Amino acid sequence: MILQVLSFIALYLGAVVFMEGFAWVTHRYVMHGWGWIWHRSHHEPRTGHFELNDLFAVVFAAPAIVGIYLGVHGTPWMLPVGLGITTYGAIYFLFHDGLVHRRFPMPKARSAYWKRLIQAHRFHHAVHTKDGAVSFGFLLAPDVRKLKARLTAQGVAADET
Ligand SMILES: [Zn+2]
Ligand SMILES: [Zn+2]
Repeated sequence: MILQVLSFIALYLGAVVFMEGFAWVTHRYVMHGWGWIWHRSHHEPRTGHFELNDLFAVVFAAPAIVGIYLGVHGTPWMLPVGLGITTYGAIYFLFHDGLVHRRFPMPKARSAYWKRLIQAHRFHHAVHTKDGAVSFGFLLAPDVRKLKARLTAQGVAADET
């Protein structure tokens, strides 16, 4: 029993951590690759409540739903995986759409960690094109000074906000 609980927790946390890596790779090579057709809307001013880029959230919800479904229908280890993906999605949504892009009210970030991540993602948005963007992670980000230096070297204005 205890072993089952521990492996459940390990799979759950593993899925959350894996998703940050998966999100980085997807953002770097799909969204700023052939998926730019959807992601472009996120690097331009939004008109209305939604943007084409929101469709990625729908796509990413699918493996979470499938994981939870299979988890309660005969493949128990899929349940923590599905819940881990869901948790990552929720954290991502609160951070990215709330804290950074203020699409809904969120308390102001106070910790140095969140402030650094917000700044790093703002720097990601300093570039409005498919190529040349920096900082593709969401819950892990490189040093803000390094990002700023890379942008400045490319001739992109990178003011900390
Ligand atoms: Zn982007
Ligand atoms: Zn963004």
